[in-house]
Amino acid sequence: MKTYDQEKIKATLPILLKSLHLPTFNQLWENMSREAELHGWGCARYLQVLAEHEISGRDSRRLMRFMKESQLPTGKTFATFDFTSAPMVNKSQMHAYGCGVSWIEEGGNLLIFGPSGVGKTHLASAIGTSLVENGFRVLFKRTTEILQQLLLAKKEFRLPSELQKLDKFDCLILDDFGYVKKDQIETSVLFELISERYERKSILITCNQPFSEWDDIFEDKAMTVASIDRLVHHAKIVEINKESYRKEEALKRKDK
Ligand code: ADP
Ligand code: MG
Repeated sequence: MKTYDQEKIKATLPILLKSLHLPTFNQLWENMSREAELHGWGCARYLQVLAEHEISGRDSRRLMRFMKESQLPTGKTFATFDFTSAPMVNKSQMHAYGCGVSWIEEGGNLLIFGPSGVGKTHLASAIGTSLVENGFRVLFKRTTEILQQLLLAKKEFRLPSELQKLDKFDCLILDDFGYVKKDQIETSVLFELISERYERKSILITCNQPFSEWDDIFEDKAMTVASIDRLVHHAKIVEINKESYRKEEALKRKDK
């Protein structure tokens, strides 16, 4: 090929690839053409290698985007969760939940109960992180935070569109559900959220209060019953009843 042609290609190809939204092609085409010459690849093989890189680049960019939008706490994964200190938590079952098996696709729910400090948030985050890695979209929020967000939307007459925005998430993690108190704030929007997602999109709740105390959360008895009913209808329930992990760790250090 004449040098003039090569120069022309070098000047125009990046523009063409950019407008085709092929950033990995753009990044690699030149180096790969040298590889192709070295290994005697034909045009088809060269194109195939670039396309494979583009696809894997696209997958990892999507994963990074989903991980960022999830707002999941960092470092709280299965890799850092010590299953031996929580024997009532079935490891393979939790990993299956992290793959979305038999709940996400059916729009089912997962409820994690237990006292403070036993690893509920850690476990919920680990499941959420694994879901993202498996291609699902997740949003992690403290329940009080999402409640404020929904209340503001209601005040501004845009609650339906706010609920609609949450619909893109396959799983909504509501951490510390039991911290919400009806005497401090109007909580009916939470009921609307639960009803909106019912049998369509999953909710994962962590809570340190048993259902018997949920009267403190919702505005009236009927709303409490209806909320529990919708959440439990297609739900997996995990109970972690043990000493606080932090306390256990502190005691272990003291014993040494
Ligand atoms: P909870 O949400 O039940 O109050 P957390 O998930 O916040 O408890 O756990 C408290 C702290 O202890 C966190 O730093 C968490 O990472 C850690 N922790 C709890 N359980 C475990 C566990 N089984 N393995 C590793 N770390 C744990
Ligand atoms: Mg917690």
